[in-house]
Amino acid sequence: MVKVVKFGGSSLASAAQFSKVGDIIRSDESRKYVIPSAPGKRNDKDTKVTDMLYQCYAAAEADEDFKPKLKKIKERYDSIINGLHLKVSLEEEFRIIAENFANKAGKEYAASRGEYLNGIIMAAYLGYEFIDAAEVVFFDKNGDFDPEKTNRVMSKRLKKAERAVIPGFYGSKEDGTVHTFSRGGSDITGSIVAKAADADLYENWTDVSGFLIADPSIIQNPEVIKVITYRELRELSYMGATVLHEDAVFPVRKAGIPINIRNTNKPGDEGTLIVENTCHHSKYTITGIAGKKGFVAVNIDKDMMNSEVGFGRKVLTAFEQNGISFEHMPSGIDTMTVFVHQEEFEGKEQQVLSAINRLADPDTIDLEADLALIAVVGRGMRSTRGTAGRIFSALSHANVNVKMIDQGSSELNIIIGVANSDFETAIEAIYDIFVKTQL
Ligand code: ASP
Repeated sequence: MVKVVKFGGSSLASAAQFSKVGDIIRSDESRKYVIPSAPGKRNDKDTKVTDMLYQCYAAAEADEDFKPKLKKIKERYDSIINGLHLKVSLEEEFRIIAENFANKAGKEYAASRGEYLNGIIMAAYLGYEFIDAAEVVFFDKNGDFDPEKTNRVMSKRLKKAERAVIPGFYGSKEDGTVHTFSRGGSDITGSIVAKAADADLYENWTDVSGFLIADPSIIQNPEVIKVITYRELRELSYMGATVLHEDAVFPVRKAGIPINIRNTNKPGDEGTLIVENTCHHSKYTITGIAGKKGFVAVNIDKDMMNSEVGFGRKVLTAFEQNGISFEHMPSGIDTMTVFVHQEEFEGKEQQVLSAINRLADPDTIDLEADLALIAVVGRGMRSTRGTAGRIFSALSHANVNVKMIDQGSSELNIIIGVANSDFETAIEAIYDIFVKTQL
């Protein structure tokens, strides 16, 4: 059994957190490959080391004295080293980093040092081999991730290392320069390593006990989702539920490796298991609820619209020509509605309207702003009667007016449009009916 374990920044923010991580790794000998993030925040007012590095490098780039800022970063690492009573010293590493900053080695190189240095400490702490991610994770010259080369080189390298620490977030380009994934990218490294190691499980350790059924800022103490499929996760993450970097799913999903989200501060919690497919019935009909505010509905009316070939294409061309992507497009006999992001749409509103008039010649166009979309997601909906009925009766009891309904043909989700001002009430009503009262 091989497990790849990734630890997020808050799990590695201090010596005390490191020792929790050490206990977790040592308690299961199949936890063979470890992917650390850079030290994160120790409290709400703290700054992540990655952000400190960006700021420090900005000073170097502006030819300001960046040394005091670098000293502060070094202090963060030294406090971890001293707190763990380790013998390792980062003096030489910091000398090289200072030299490279002075020579303008680049923002990405700068940011990557957070994970690199934490990896050195982690390897020393565990007695594992250290593998520099620059030697095993590759990007092409445009900065796009190169999965083939990475998998080839990494799997060969891992065969020679029974236990190793591979820092997250970065790799190298063909010319040898360091390149990073987008923020939160250590999740992706973990997934890549899991695939290359042919792991049985990719454990992603963070500071929450998994995905929650609903947003905790709306629902008090929502329950944790025990098992979720990759497709359900995609629907929920798209609608705003974030725990894992979106791109982290692809490598392991293709390889059929499940991801287990776990809580470093509560290692006894089972967390959320993300799988390709499952016959596990969730306790409730729905798996999760997520949503976003800030949409505009563009309602377009035209007599005999339904018999006009190409009408929909003409309307959508008007959005495309203005670089606006649409979210949903429910339609009636002689009407269609296009949901777009308010922020994206506002600046281009009049151009889009005149393009629709020009291209599609509708009878009327009506706009409704300040709308929210809520996705109710669950593989269980396919085999359960009356899910939609329950949602809408709950919403009507809560006095929420439903503006739009869209059920995907996969029956995996139902999307509901409501006024922004009804957003929280609607989520509470749906959570109540499915989870609290378990109807
Ligand atoms: N340290 C990087 C960040 O703060 C990458 C990560 O933590 O995954 O975004």
